[in-house]
Amino acid sequence: MQSLTILGATGSIGRSTLDVVARHPDRYRVFALAAQRRADDLYEQCLRFAPRYAALADVDAAHGLAARIAAAGLDTEVLAGDEALAALAAHEDVDTVMAAIVGAAGLAPTLAAARAGKRILLANKESLVMAGEVFLRACREGGATVLPIDSEHNAVFQCLPVDGTGRCARGVRRIVLTASGGPFRGATLAEMAAATPEQACAHPNWSMGRKISVDSATMMNKGLELIEAFHLFGVAGSRLEVLVHPQSIVHSLVEYDDGSVLAQMGNPDMRTPIAQALAHPERIASGVTPLDLVAIGRLEFEAPDARRFPCLRLAHEALAAGGAAPCVLNAANEVAVAAFLGRAIRFTDIASVTEAVLHAIGDRAAGTAIEEVFAIDDEARSLAREQLSRCTA
Ligand code: NAD
Ligand code: MG
Repeated sequence: MQSLTILGATGSIGRSTLDVVARHPDRYRVFALAAQRRADDLYEQCLRFAPRYAALADVDAAHGLAARIAAAGLDTEVLAGDEALAALAAHEDVDTVMAAIVGAAGLAPTLAAARAGKRILLANKESLVMAGEVFLRACREGGATVLPIDSEHNAVFQCLPVDGTGRCARGVRRIVLTASGGPFRGATLAEMAAATPEQACAHPNWSMGRKISVDSATMMNKGLELIEAFHLFGVAGSRLEVLVHPQSIVHSLVEYDDGSVLAQMGNPDMRTPIAQALAHPERIASGVTPLDLVAIGRLEFEAPDARRFPCLRLAHEALAAGGAAPCVLNAANEVAVAAFLGRAIRFTDIASVTEAVLHAIGDRAAGTAIEEVFAIDDEARSLAREQLSRCTA
């Protein structure tokens, strides 16, 4: 029986995780569910999964949840605040932590899981982008293992060879991350400049949270994933590539020195990588519809358009620069995406705000302690907020 903490339980990945877990009550026990403030959703999940703990980062929302849990006579104990989330990620009775909080907010509790030596199912790519070295060092020192949930990295993981210590990149010439191209794959720059949050969040193949949906529309998501792949697989940026594949059936490819190319395929449904990581090295049912290649008929591939998707170039630049550049890129992007979702800036401003901040302070050295990482993150956010005022919605 694996005991699970799910960070970001009410989100898209959190709900898909519970869907898979519910299919295997003999294998998984939900120890703790944690989220930001959606008490109604977390309450419903507590009714269904009866975790030992539930936690909300928002203290008022947690009090409301506690009252409802008590009234319903459930045994679940409710905790409040960011420290509670970190404590539940590191709790001695937990084996596996699903790290599915969105954005930089996911770093602290995921790091707590790393230090406590948990098996980490990593959806929160932002924590690797912000603090790759610090996070991986904590994993090594704490004895934690990381299994990628991001569909591309989960695909690469499945295609890599195994050596004595796990997956390795021996004999690998290139790793190719596929991208759907998002809702604006065929749009003009003028259409993109006028795009609304609703249009940007209407992803053609995947149903996801709003932040990652906007990142997919700008292709910053793929940029963050290049940096994520660099840390996870130890492959230089020059050997990481992006390929647009509108059907989202091939989830990524690994090319070997001998010319072999291995790919992992499946319907675009996050329950596949979640089930793969939950059960690794075994295989379990996920509820995903079997792939019907005859019905799909054709798989298409094209090169990404750097002119319309400058975020991809910014991520390549940040990866090549190293140091604090990826952390700065991530922070500025988060501020810009939130402003776009709040209708304060245009879609195309996301890239320009991020670029201005990256060029201003992207040459800083990487933080070697987590406090330094948060200080750089803060500074990049302040600069990004200054940049917002220069944009007109
Ligand atoms: P979402 O917006 O649907 O859910 C986010 C979750 O994080 C919610 O449960 C929310 O309560 C919680 N959260 C947000 N801010 C928080 C805070 N300050 N403190 C505590 N909890 C907080 O997002 P999602 O689409 O599920 O994405 C989650 C993560 O997984 C992201 O890092 C994303 O990049 C990654 N990811 C998602 C998908 C996908 O298909 N949705 C695919 C690959 C990777
Ligand atoms: Mg992905």
